[in-house]
Amino acid sequence: SFVSMAAAPMLTKLQQDCATPLPVLRNVASSMSDDIRAGLAVDGGSDLKMILSYVDSLPTGDEKGLFYALDLGGTNFRVLRVELGGKDKRVIAIESDQVSIPQELMSATSEELFDFIASALANFANKGGNFPGKKGEIGFTFSFPVKQTSIDSGILIKWTKGFAVSGTAGKDVVACLNEAMDRKGIDMRVSALVNDTVATLAGARYWDDDVMVAVILGTGTNACYVERMDCIPKLQGEFSPSGRTIVNLEWGAFSKGLPLTVFDRDMDAASINPGEQIFEKTISGMYLGEIARRALLHMAEEGSLFGKSVPEKLSMPFVLGTPDLSTMQQDGTEDLHTVGSVLYNVAGVESDLSSRKIVLEVCDTIVKRAARLAGAGIVGILQKIEEDTEDAIFGKRTVVAMDGGLYERYPQYRRYLKEAVAELLGPETSQNIVIEHSKDGSGIGAALLAATNSKYG
Ligand code: ADP
Repeated sequence: SFVSMAAAPMLTKLQQDCATPLPVLRNVASSMSDDIRAGLAVDGGSDLKMILSYVDSLPTGDEKGLFYALDLGGTNFRVLRVELGGKDKRVIAIESDQVSIPQELMSATSEELFDFIASALANFANKGGNFPGKKGEIGFTFSFPVKQTSIDSGILIKWTKGFAVSGTAGKDVVACLNEAMDRKGIDMRVSALVNDTVATLAGARYWDDDVMVAVILGTGTNACYVERMDCIPKLQGEFSPSGRTIVNLEWGAFSKGLPLTVFDRDMDAASINPGEQIFEKTISGMYLGEIARRALLHMAEEGSLFGKSVPEKLSMPFVLGTPDLSTMQQDGTEDLHTVGSVLYNVAGVESDLSSRKIVLEVCDTIVKRAARLAGAGIVGILQKIEEDTEDAIFGKRTVVAMDGGLYERYPQYRRYLKEAVAELLGPETSQNIVIEHSKDGSGIGAALLAATNSKYG
């Protein structure tokens, strides 16, 4: 057998360092609540930015008409058109298209990028003939850091995710898109600028009035919830008729009370943003495979997990992806041959049954910690809402809308997350808290926010 006796105590050590017993989860949940309060009090008051979305009227189901959504958050952008028929008919028709952004445009000028987007939108709008009689209104989901100044304006702070477009930083991205549409003679306007988490909440709320929180668990992670305006000291200006607004936590930046290992610290130190986004680095899809790889490499080097020599590819950062962990954890074969082939194909690792079993334990440890901490974060948000007594939610049905590839495609992650929430809330309350997958709610959510914030009625 490959596995030397040295690997077993290393696994035990990893499990201890990653343990998330109830007291650890309780502490994370209450730190999340505290950080939410501190971030609502004053800008810069906590790790959590608590960004005001300016979305203060949520979809009711009564929305009618043809609306568009445009989603720019990576190397693809999506356009969507939905025809809303009001309370009974709801969604009459929906069409969408995906356009990939040519590499050269990611480092072009602002005008070039937005002209490309405007043209693609016009092509899509002209297809199918169902063109609106009045100006087409767009909900624009823009997943880069912006300083929002109203529901339909926001200043780009900086491009991320490989974009290096010149001339947009410091400008209003809505104005950039509106100007591009003017240049091209396109009769469409942005009515709502939103973050993807906010759009997910709006999309889920359209179908279900009890949705209060939305969480994205994909490559990265974020959360938002419906807050009372009188609970936001830093909010200046008038309260909306609803008295409520969506607040975007930017919760990836949370950092308190997390059980971290040497592998987390080393990964953070080697990252492009050391010391930042610690919660995101512990719970989101971009990182779980890499944490596991670092643990396995250590066990191979110091514990001869895969025999005397250490497979070379295992030293390459990010060779092991979170989808690989998920694939291995679904292996139901007696000899764990899926685990064996994933290890061989992605990392050039030859393994036997006993080393495969250890690999699975490592995956489970990393994923269990991630999912339970995400669950504790959700409970932190719910507790914050609950403590504002008028909004008591624990005694009635309350929905948390979930989306993102990690949540959607990693069954163990989903199960561990739900278990942690139930442990924290107790059997009675957890019956009222529904954690629900809201698939692709963000596209329709953005279109709905264009409808609820319509400029033309
Ligand atoms: P985004 O990149 O916008 O977050 P998604 O919500 O689709 O897009 O999430 C993609 C992420 O989900 C991937 O980066 C990966 O971490 C994770 N993921 C994708 N497929 C799987 C899978 N089969 N098992 C576990 N995680 C997955």
